[in-house]
Parts: sequence; C-alpha cells; structure tokens
Amino acid sequence: MPEKKIAIFGATGSIGTQALDILKKKPNLYQVDVLTANNNYQSLAEQANLFQPSCVILANEAHKDEFRKYLNYSPQHLEFGQSALEEVAANYEYDLLLNSLVGFAGFMSTYIALKRKKRVALANKESLVVGGEIITKLPAFNEGFLVPVDSEHSAMMQCIEGESMESIQKIIITASGGPFWEYSAEQMKEITVEDALKHPNWDMGSKITIDSSTMMNKGLEIIEAHWLFTIPVEKIEPVIHPQSIIHSIVEFVDGSSKAQLGPPDMKVPIIYALTYPDREPYPNKTLDYSNNLELEFRPVDFEKFPCLRLAMESAEEGGFAPAVLNAANEIAIERFLSKEIHYIDIPKIIEKSLEKITSNKELTPASLMIIDKETRNYANSLLR
Ligand code: NDP
Repeated sequence: MPEKKIAIFGATGSIGTQALDILKKKPNLYQVDVLTANNNYQSLAEQANLFQPSCVILANEAHKDEFRKYLNYSPQHLEFGQSALEEVAANYEYDLLLNSLVGFAGFMSTYIALKRKKRVALANKESLVVGGEIITKLPAFNEGFLVPVDSEHSAMMQCIEGESMESIQKIIITASGGPFWEYSAEQMKEITVEDALKHPNWDMGSKITIDSSTMMNKGLEIIEAHWLFTIPVEKIEPVIHPQSIIHSIVEFVDGSSKAQLGPPDMKVPIIYALTYPDREPYPNKTLDYSNNLELEFRPVDFEKFPCLRLAMESAEEGGFAPAVLNAANEIAIERFLSKEIHYIDIPKIIEKSLEKITSNKELTPASLMIIDKETRNYANSLLR
C-alpha cells in the first residue's frame, strides 16, 4: 500500500473519474483515502466499493439512505452534507487534495487545505478566480503547494519551470474557441442547450462545457493565470487555436517562446499535478508530427464573446468583481441549462450583476461568501 494518501473532492465528475482511472492503473502513486460527490451517489458508491477509502462524503444529504444501500463496506468515516467537505479538508490526514469540485463550492476546500500546508492539485479554477487575492497570500501558496490541473496552466507551469518570472514577456493562452467561434451574431441567438453542450475537442462537465462555449472559461483561466503566476492581466493574451494541441505559450523578453503540446487529453495535466515535481511513465497518446499536423491560430472576437471581455474587465477591477462575475455566471448557466433563459442572456445577467453588486469590505473567505450569496440572489431576481 502506498504511503501517500490522496483526497479526491468531486470524485464522480469528469476530472475526478479520470484521476481515478489513472490511480487504478498506477496504484503505487497514492492510497485513495477520501472520495466525495454531491448527487451522484451510485457512482460514488461504486468508486468507494472499489478503492475502499476510509472517508466518503456525499454532500447532498437527500440521497443518504439510498447511498448506504449501494455501499458494500463500512468506511471509517461516512459523512453527509456540504459542511463535511470543509471539516474533512480541515481535520483529516491526507498528503494531496485533488480539488475537482465545480464552481464556488470548491473555494473553501482549497483555502483550508493550503492553510494547513497540504498539497493541492487544483482543477477547481473558480477557487483562484474568486479568492486569488486571499489564496496567494497564504505561505503554502508561495512555497509551491498549489499545482494547477487546468491544461493551459499546466502548460504555462511546464514552460516557466527553471525560468525567472522577470524574464516572462507575455503568456499566450490558447482557446479552442468552443463550438461557436465561427458563428455569426444571428446564429448566436439560436443556440440551444444541446448545441452548447457539444464541445469539439474536450469531454467535460456541463458547467465548464458551457463556459468554453461562451469563452467565459478563457476569461476564468486568464484570472487563474494572473494569480498563479503573478502576471498582469494585460500580459495574458487569449488566442483561438481550434486543434487544442498547443496548450499555451510563454514568450520571454529575449524573443524566445516555449510552448507545451499534446493531444487534448486531461489525463496528461492530471498526472503531472499528481506527481509533480516528478514525471511518472503513463501510456498517454502522443502526437504524430509527420502526419500533416495542423496548428492554426485566430484572433479572439471580444464582441461576439462578451463573457470573455467581462471576465478580463473584472480581473482588472479586482476586489470582489471576479467573485460577482463567477456567481452570476453560475446562476446564468444553471438557468440556461434548465432552459429558462436564452444563450445570449448569459452575459447580460453577468453584466447587470457586475453593475449592481459592489462592496468595500475587506476581502476574506467570510465576505466572499456574503457577496457570492448576494450576487446569486440578485441574478435570480433578474429572471423573475
Ligand atoms: P463535473 O461537473 O464533471 O464534476 C464536478 C464534481 O463536483 C462532481 O463530483 C460533483 O458531484 C461535485 N460537485 C458539484 N457540485 C458540488 C457541490 N455543491 N458540493 C459538493 N460537490 C459538488 O466537473 P468537471 O470535472 O468537468 O470540472 C471540475 C473542475 O475542474 C471545474 O472547476 C472545471 O472548471 C475544472 N476543469 C475541468 C476540466 C475538464 O476537462 N472537465 C478541464 C480543466 C478544468 P456529482 O457528480 O454528485 O454531481
């Protein structure tokens, strides 16, 4: 049994299940000791029965009884409710937290784990979007306890390794452009939930798939990169690269650039984050360079993708603006997925929320919670 223990928050999602696939093939890496899910009790029970972690959390208590029926062993700790995530992040012994929760729900776990100087493999980009200013002040952040899982940030980190931060001139963050980057303004009005859930290159959870289609995902990633690498937003340039082969480029002051490449496969950055600073052999596919490999680049159209513009503006404004952006975006996506609003209403709800919700309070985890709630209430009220 490996000595190091991993806690996987959001184990039943796209990132969580891919991480568990890796750990199934590489049982030497970690003992899977904590697994969590929200609603998906059947999948969580299957994962738990297989890996037999000592702690299992189902955040949505409504499925408590059903969940117990599917478990075929008795974990030492069987916890229910949203607060169990924070309790376990704060009190449980683990060597690495893979935070693959989605949305603001993931922020506190990242914060608590880093405060305890636990290593965090961070898929939950929203943690840094809403709380970058708080997280980057924690000693553990500055001592390298946070490793990104996002493919673009993993790429940036691999390009930056061994370089001084002063030598970076700019970062070119690539974006697939999602399914709609060639759509006209007229076509954008007709987009359905089914259209938006079809990503051309990546198979991901529904929230990030919608974010990719509106290019909010790129905006969130720019904010994430800004905090992760202490780089001004204006030095991070988004570029459409439809093949998703170059995951990002770092340009240096002497005119040299480094890029990180590979087929679009999240298992590559996941295993990098799990094993950093080492590299573990793993049979991920590689590129065939002799077979007409096409690498295209196009400029981003900020008018067609107002979510990207709003994200960049909120990053420049700083303070609570990215938290407002994030909360309004989460509500708008929920409402779009339940077919209560049109696709083109998503940026309108975000923009109105950014105009309305402001605060002079000190930025703390508690004040973030308040602003998040206030924004959600306001964004919902716009729809009534
Ligand atoms: P999914 O929606 O597929 O999975 C999210 C996970 O979090 C599930 O286990 C879900 O449980 C759980 N969860 C959701 N809401 C809550 C909540 N309120 N409380 C507790 N648990 C919750 O998301 P992804 O795996 O796609 O994404 C996870 C994060 O990684 C996101 O921040 C995303 O932006 C980022 N990311 C994802 C990539 C991808 O390829 N998927 C690529 C790069 C970044 P349940 O299954 O029970 O609902």
